[in-house]
Amino acid sequence: MKYNKLTFPYKGESHDFVHEGSYKVVREDLEEGVLGEADNDGTIKIDKSVKPGSKKEKEIIVHEETHMNEMEAEDEDGNKLLAYDDDSVTDNIAGKTYKRKNGKLIDNDTGKEYEEGDPKLPHESRAFAASNKIKNA
Ligand SMILES: [Zn+2]
Repeated sequence: MKYNKLTFPYKGESHDFVHEGSYKVVREDLEEGVLGEADNDGTIKIDKSVKPGSKKEKEIIVHEETHMNEMEAEDEDGNKLLAYDDDSVTDNIAGKTYKRKNGKLIDNDTGKEYEEGDPKLPHESRAFAASNKIKNA
């Protein structure tokens, strides 16, 4: 299994479609339970089960775009606002670092474990705040 992704686990319907927005959006068969991924190569992946043009699709793209914007932006010290690799996630907005292990993010300060994509994680909370505006529109 790979953990080099920030995921947005969400269930959807079946379809094939490629949307072009501010980032390259491609359709793939993602891992079970995962509907969207933001790759740090600038690609947003949407699971093939998500209906093209649907509100759900827009919701996922907005969510992943929020992660992507933070992965590209830098603070005054030149650090990415959000950075990740296979072993860790660094959230320089919330001042949090996490170890990645078996699909979990472990808070380096508190030792508390979260599922990847848990809305309680500050970087997920920010992305859900954006996507929930679509969801609740
Ligand atoms: Zn997310």
